[in-house]
Amino acid sequence: MIEYDLAIIGGGPGGLTASIYGSRAGLKTLVLEKVITGGQMRLTSGIENYPGFPNITGEELSKSLHQQAMNHGAEILSRTVKSIVFEDFRKIIDTDEESFGTKTIIIATGTRHNNIDCPGAREFAGRGLSFCALCDGAFMRNEVAAVVGGGNSALEEADYLSRFATKVYLIHRRDEFRADKHLRTRILDNPKVEFIPSAVVARVSGSDIVEEIEVKSLKTGEITPLKVGGVFVYVGNSPNTAFLPPEIKTNAAGYILTDDKLETSVPGVYAAGDVRDTDLRQIVTAVADGARAAVNANRRIEETPCPELGKTAV
Ligand code: NAP
Repeated sequence: MIEYDLAIIGGGPGGLTASIYGSRAGLKTLVLEKVITGGQMRLTSGIENYPGFPNITGEELSKSLHQQAMNHGAEILSRTVKSIVFEDFRKIIDTDEESFGTKTIIIATGTRHNNIDCPGAREFAGRGLSFCALCDGAFMRNEVAAVVGGGNSALEEADYLSRFATKVYLIHRRDEFRADKHLRTRILDNPKVEFIPSAVVARVSGSDIVEEIEVKSLKTGEITPLKVGGVFVYVGNSPNTAFLPPEIKTNAAGYILTDDKLETSVPGVYAAGDVRDTDLRQIVTAVADGARAAVNANRRIEETPCPELGKTAV
């Protein structure tokens, strides 16, 4: 079994930053990512609040971080982690292919998109119901699109879709948006976006792909059918923590609890980014978490008086 000093599960901004800090500290560092690095950031159409990069795409930032991690010596593998077993100081990570031994772990698995709960929502996922405007927005050229949600993601992506679609319905269960003020202003000023407040999608239907949705007013109960070419769902996220053993404590919603060193309830196991129980989920906070978790993992290896924790030759 190949042994590492630091194994990072998840290759989003938190995980990749942790790998840069871990490798630079001389730790033999592994990143395990299910499919492709970048996480949800990679699917973001435009990032305007990452300091120093006033207008960069999620894909550009993802590729650049990936390259930076590789340049510093991190090993990045496409693997799905199945389980983790804790020995005293050593931890064993079982994946869909092989197992890896490691002294420390950083969990940076992020979150996944929630779906709406109505007839047709599951059935049409991938057939006109999408969680990624960047991936599927071009299909909305000369079509009418619907976006569900009232957070930053919904408003940003409704704005993005309005570049292609003839019209974008923005359907939100309340009268007020949760999104930041500048996005609220931008979306309400966008002539292609029609805001439908206090409403939910009650049905998604079509033949092969989505053709119609039913929108239910939460004030009157009235149902309005709307012809649409696609529905883009941004109704929050859930943490990717199902594979974790019970020793790693989470809050009721499944987000990982950490102390001020970002260490979890298991010594030597840290969490970084959106998967953590935290009050702000941004690229910049994930990046900061990744740096702190890696520095603390390195300190643990250097300061614990245990020969088993000495650094592995890279
Ligand atoms: P979010 O902030 O959790 O917003 C989810 C939205 O979906 C809320 O408006 C919520 O309504 C609505 N919602 C939840 N469950 C629903 C349901 N069952 N049916 C209908 N609507 C439902 O999620 P997000 O927009 O994906 O953002 C996730 C995190 O990433 C946030 O911390 C956000 O700030 C951050 N983010 C930041 C940026 C940026 O800074 N540019 C961009 C994207 C995301 P209520 O408001 O009524 O609860």
